[in-house]
Amino acid sequence: MTEYDFDLFVIGAGSGGVRLARMSAATGAKVAVAEDRYLGGTCVNVGCVPKKLFVYASHVAGGLEDGAGYGWYNSSELNFDWNTLVENKNKEISRLNGIYQNLLVNSGAKIVEGSASLVDAHTVSVAGQHYTAERIVIAAGGWPRQLNIPGSEHVLTSNEFFFLDSLPETVVMLGGGYIAIELAGILQGLGVKTKVIYRGDKVLRGFDEEVRDFVTEQVANKGIEFILNDNIASVSKVSEGKYGVELTSGESLETGLVLSAIGRVPKTEGLGLENVGVELSRNGAVLVNDEFQTSVESIYAVGEVIDKVQLTPVALAEGMFLANLFFGEKPPTPVDYNNIATAVFCQPNIGTVGLSEEHAKESYPNIDVYVSSFKPMKHTMSGRDERSMMKLVVNKDTDVVLGAHMVGPDAGEIIQGLAVAIKAGATKSVFDSTIGIHPTAAEEFVTMRQPRA
Ligand code: FAD
Ligand code: NDP
Repeated sequence: MTEYDFDLFVIGAGSGGVRLARMSAATGAKVAVAEDRYLGGTCVNVGCVPKKLFVYASHVAGGLEDGAGYGWYNSSELNFDWNTLVENKNKEISRLNGIYQNLLVNSGAKIVEGSASLVDAHTVSVAGQHYTAERIVIAAGGWPRQLNIPGSEHVLTSNEFFFLDSLPETVVMLGGGYIAIELAGILQGLGVKTKVIYRGDKVLRGFDEEVRDFVTEQVANKGIEFILNDNIASVSKVSEGKYGVELTSGESLETGLVLSAIGRVPKTEGLGLENVGVELSRNGAVLVNDEFQTSVESIYAVGEVIDKVQLTPVALAEGMFLANLFFGEKPPTPVDYNNIATAVFCQPNIGTVGLSEEHAKESYPNIDVYVSSFKPMKHTMSGRDERSMMKLVVNKDTDVVLGAHMVGPDAGEIIQGLAVAIKAGATKSVFDSTIGIHPTAAEEFVTMRQPRA
């Protein structure tokens, strides 16, 4: 039998890679994980975590404004210091990097610092040193898709956003997906005048149509300007901190910063996939079978690099699956890509699980839709012009709830609970017989009685 240095070599210590490496090492397997940038990957360093911290920061001024109706007022001028926010966020991320390091080391995994590339089906090279392993897993993540237009060197992405030296007065944001809408909300909340340019007629493609309409209206109410059916044709630098933006419609804008959030691409460059014959799809993702095995028997891949669902909990589930497949006592349950709950941390938040009304109609002949839209109780006295909406999509023939959607404060927190019910196959009658918690917004989900006509 061939002797390898390791049972498992993982390339990338992000969401998927860390989960896989530490759960595998914890079984006693000999595991190494290579990382060339930051422990914890995108989510911890330039994704979910700094984004959510910045979302909290962007709520503060509005929260203080809301206080006025409750008798609170500011006796002195309110100031915001971007550098304090960035420094404190950096400190928190360093703390998390340390936690990831401890998790790996304590599990028994060896961390190899540097950029890894494949030499052959069982060999990885990092910083000139070769490591052999029975199995290799590519968990290299993704990278922001770059704009290919004149002046794109002046355009920044989410990667740089979290480290800006200063906050401009105005931002032009390109894209209509998760990142564009979340970052626009953060910027607007921090007092930056923000314009979102989107090539289609409605942002957040793929979400329930009514949710898209509702959230667009709520977000626009906060002052974010949408320029739809348009795109950026070119960007030029006018002077330090001032950029000219030409749109394909012919309109010209001037702004302090141009950000682009037009999707993410699998990060496969430099991995040496061509050395070993790992096949890629047309969009550059590593092709895998149902067990995350690539076209090379000993090489697997998980997370954004396979471009199935670009969410941290999905990368974690895929990493966990492989740890169980390789070193578990019984065959693992396959990763279930149905009913994955997700939230967009725009303001107000979107939380969603299961089928949109449109997708449900494609698969089921008879559906009922229950919708409720209301002013959250808090804003009856704060005076804020913000509404929430909740929606259930139900299979009329079986009574099974197919989808739950919400726009409103803490939508992600509320939908996470409903995701369990929907995954368990709950019917509308089960929702109806559930006694609500009063007074909450969430109780609306168990009190909607009349389907929309
Ligand atoms: P990553 O976490 O990116 O890890 C890959 C790691 O591999 C990286 O650390 C990288 O440096 C390393 N690497 C790459 N190549 C090599 C190499 N050759 N050698 C050594 N190391 C290498 N998801 C959510 O679920 N919720 C959110 O709120 C959310 N917010 C987001 C906000 C933003 C701005 C962004 C950009 C993403 C967000 N995501 C969110 C998505 C989430 O971050 C990713 O889906 C997740 O991190 C993917 O995990 P991964 O393990 O595939 O890759
Ligand atoms: P998305 O795929 O969500 O959105 C990309 C947007 O860019 C779409 O509106 C798309 O338009 C548009 N676009 C694509 N190409 C171009 C182009 N060439 N010119 C102009 N517009 C273009 O990607 P994001 O970058 O926003 O985020 C990447 C992924 O990260 C998300 O899909 C999500 O999975 C994950 N993420 C998750 C978060 C969360 O869980 N809260 C937060 C942030 C990211 P069109 O719709 O017309 O294709």
